[in-house]
Amino acid sequence: MSKQKQAAPLMETIVSLCKRRGFIFQASEIYGGIGNTYDYGPLGVELKRRVKEAWWSRTVTERADVVGLDSAILQNPKVWEVSGHVGGFTDPMVDCKTCKGRFRADKLEDARCPEKPSKIPGECHGELTEPRSFNLMFKTNVGPVEDSGSIAYLRPETAQGIFLNFLNVQQSARLKPPFGIAQIGKSFRNEITPGNFVFRTREFEQAEMEFFVPPAENDKWYDFWRNERFRWYSDLGIREEKLRLRDHDADELSHYSNATCDVEYEYPFGWGELEGIACRTDFDLKRHSEASGTRLEYFDPQTKEHYMPYVIEPAGGIDRMALTFLIDAYDEEELEKETRTVLHFHPEIAPTTVGVFPLVKKDGMPEKAQEIAKELRRARFSTFYDEKAAIGRRYRRQDEVGTPYCVTIDGDTMAEDVVTVRDRDSMEQERVPVAELRGWLDEAVRNWKRG
Ligand code: ATP
Repeated sequence: MSKQKQAAPLMETIVSLCKRRGFIFQASEIYGGIGNTYDYGPLGVELKRRVKEAWWSRTVTERADVVGLDSAILQNPKVWEVSGHVGGFTDPMVDCKTCKGRFRADKLEDARCPEKPSKIPGECHGELTEPRSFNLMFKTNVGPVEDSGSIAYLRPETAQGIFLNFLNVQQSARLKPPFGIAQIGKSFRNEITPGNFVFRTREFEQAEMEFFVPPAENDKWYDFWRNERFRWYSDLGIREEKLRLRDHDADELSHYSNATCDVEYEYPFGWGELEGIACRTDFDLKRHSEASGTRLEYFDPQTKEHYMPYVIEPAGGIDRMALTFLIDAYDEEELEKETRTVLHFHPEIAPTTVGVFPLVKKDGMPEKAQEIAKELRRARFSTFYDEKAAIGRRYRRQDEVGTPYCVTIDGDTMAEDVVTVRDRDSMEQERVPVAELRGWLDEAVRNWKRG
C-alpha cells in the first residue's frame, strides 16, 4: 500500500525526480548555479502553465466580476516609495563575523552556515552582528546614465500595477464594485533565507487579484475569498488534511492590512504559507491618490457619490503552487514485485494528459497509434507518444510524471477499432472504441476524484 516518505528524503526525492524527468533544473547549473534560482524544463513548463490556466479559469474566466491585467515589471520608482516597499519591505538580517554568512534574524533555526560541517548560525564559535534591515527589492538603472535619478526597481509584487490602473480598468471595462482585477506575472525579491527548492526563489511568478468592494461589504467578501481559495486547492486534488487556513495575529499583519489569513500546506519541512488572503482596506488607493494627485475613487452614477473601495487580495505564487502540487501528488506504492513511483496529479494539472503506445513496433500499430495521438493533440489533449521499451515500463514512466491515462493500440485496435485505456491511479484497464475515445477522456478528466 502507499506510504509517504519522511521529511528530508521526500524533498530530496522530489528535487531529483524534477531534474531527472525535466520538471525543474538549477539555473546556470554548468557554472555552479546562482542561489535560489531555477529553470523549468519541458514538463515543468507544462505543469506551471496548467496551474496558471486553472487559476485564471477559476478566478477570471468563470466569473463575470473579475477582469485581467498585465502591468509592467518596471514602474516609476515613486510607486514603491508610496506603497511602503522602499521604507518597509525589509527583513532583519544578521551577519556571522567568522564565516561572513548573512541570515534572516527571525529564521535562524532554518538557516545553515556555509562552513563544513554546516551549523545553525550562532551555534558555532562565530559571533553574530546585531540585526540590520535589508531591503528585498532589486535595484536597477534605466536609461544611459547610472545615477540616483535613474534608479528603478524590479517589482516585488504584481499588486501595485493593479492599483495604479484602478481607474483605467474600472472606466474602460465599465465596472462597479464589487469587482476584481487579476494578474499573473513575475515578481522579484532578493531573498536571503535558504530556499527549500522553488518554495522561496529570487524571481517567481505571482497570481494576484485585487477585489474592490464597497467598504460595508468587506467582511462578506473576505470570508468568501478565504473559502474560495481553500476550495480551489482541494478541488484540484490537494488533500484537505494537508491544508489549513491560519489567521494572522495582530503583530504579524503587514502595514497595509487589518486582517489576513494564509492558506497553509504541511510541507515535508513543516507548515508553510501557500497563499495569503489579505484585507488591504483602502490603504493603497488612498496612498497613491494622495501622492499622485489622481483620485483613485469610484463614482457611483446612481447615488452621485464618490468613494474609495476596500480591497480583498488573494495572492499566491505559481512556483510554490506547482511545488505543492508535486509534493502532494507524490507517492510510492508497494506492488507485488516492485515499488511504483506515481504522481497523482489532478488531470487538469498533469503536464501530459494522455500517453499513446503501440503495443509492438509492427503490424501497422505504430502508424495507427501516431494517427490516434495526432487526433488527440488536435482535440487539445496534451499527448505523449512512446513506442520504446516494454509496455509495463512505458506505463511506469508515465506514472512517474503523473500522466493520468495511457492508451494502448494492440491487435484488437487493428481488427475492431478498440483501444485499451489504462488508468494511472487504479491501474485498471478498459476497452474503449476509438470513435468514443475523446468523449471518454473528457468525461474522465471532468469526473476525476482523488482516491
Ligand atoms: P513569505 O512569508 O513566505 O516570505 P510573503 O508573506 O512575503 O511570503 P506575499 O508577499 O504575501 O508573501 O506573497 C504572496 C505569495 O507569493 C506567497 O504566498 C507565496 O506563494 C508567493 N511568494 C512570495 N515570496 C516568494 C518567493 N520568494 N518565492 C516563491 N514564491 C513566493
